[in-house]
Amino acid sequence: MGTLDVQDVSGKWSPDFFGEKSSSRKEIESHPTVKSLIGSKMLLKKPMNLFMYDSLRLSNIIQTTISDYETTTPKPPFEKVARKIDEIIKVDKKKKTLSKEYFDKVLKKAQAQVASELRFEAKSTAIKTTNSLEDNLNEFRKANKSAKAVEILRRIGLYFCKKCNALLCTNTFESRTCQCGNVITHVKNTDKFSAMVLSDEAQAFIKNNIWLEYGVESIFLKAGYQTACGIYVMGSSGVRYEIDLLAVNKIMNRRTIAECKNRPVSMDDIFKLYSEMSDLGCSRSYVFSTGTPESEDVKKFAISKNITVFERVLELSEVEMVEQLQE
Ligand SMILES: [Zn+2]
Repeated sequence: MGTLDVQDVSGKWSPDFFGEKSSSRKEIESHPTVKSLIGSKMLLKKPMNLFMYDSLRLSNIIQTTISDYETTTPKPPFEKVARKIDEIIKVDKKKKTLSKEYFDKVLKKAQAQVASELRFEAKSTAIKTTNSLEDNLNEFRKANKSAKAVEILRRIGLYFCKKCNALLCTNTFESRTCQCGNVITHVKNTDKFSAMVLSDEAQAFIKNNIWLEYGVESIFLKAGYQTACGIYVMGSSGVRYEIDLLAVNKIMNRRTIAECKNRPVSMDDIFKLYSEMSDLGCSRSYVFSTGTPESEDVKKFAISKNITVFERVLELSEVEMVEQLQE
C-alpha cells in the first residue's frame, strides 16, 4: 500500500500540489480480496497474471450462466423442440389422431422438456466452472508460498427446482410455487448449490488494471520511494490529472510519476505524460507496459523527454527494475 500521504505534504513540493483518491477507488482498494492480492507481492509475476485473468474468465462464465437463468426463459430453439416432439409422439401409445389439440399439448410438453434440459446444462456448466475456479485457487495458493492468503471469491447460493431445473432464488431461500407447478415449501425441496465468483472489487482490480499500478508501486517502494497509487493531483496550471503512481524519493530529491499500461505504448501516451510532467514539476517519469512501444519513434521521443519506458514488465527482473529506479 502507498506510503505517501499526499494530503499532508501539500505545499511542501509546490504551492498547488495535492492529491486525492476517488471514493470508488478507495472502496476497491480497501476490500479484503483486493488486499489479499496486493499482499501476495506477486502482481508483476506471470503465474499471478495468468491466475488473475483465468479466474476472471471463469467467473464471467458463471455470472453469465446465472444471469441467463434469471432472465425469463427464452423460447427453446425450434430444432430441438421439433426433435423432442418426434420423440414424444413415437413413444406415445395412447395417441390416436394427430388433431390440433393433441399437437398443441405435445408442443407444450416438448417445449417444457427442452427448456428443462437446457437449464440442466446451464446448471452443470455453473457447477463445473465453479469447481475449476476453486481448484485453480487452491493450486495457485499451494504452488506459491506468498499467495497462501489470497482470498478472492464470493459465494452465491442457488436454489433450483428439482422437477424443471428452474432457478427459484439466490442467496436467501423463499418458499414459492415454481413455474412448472411444483410447490416448494422447504429448502429440502430444492436442489441447492453454491456458485463461486470473483468479488466485484477483485474483478474491478483486474479489469481496470489497478493490479499493474500496485505491482509497479512495489518496485518503487523497494527502490526507496514514497508512493501514492491511483490519485488525482493538481498541476501548477490548476488542471487535475489522474496519475497511476506518484513517487517521491527524498534522498535523491526526486519527484516522479509513472503511467501503467496493460497494452502497447503509443505516441499519445508519451505526449500526455510529458505535458503532465511539466505541469506537475517532475523532471523525469516512467511508463510501465506489459507490451512494447508501438514504434521506434515512441522510444526516441520518450528518451528525449527523460521518460523511461519499461516494456514487457511481466518478463523483466524486479531487481533490475529497482536498480534502474535508483539511477
Ligand atoms: Zn419447476
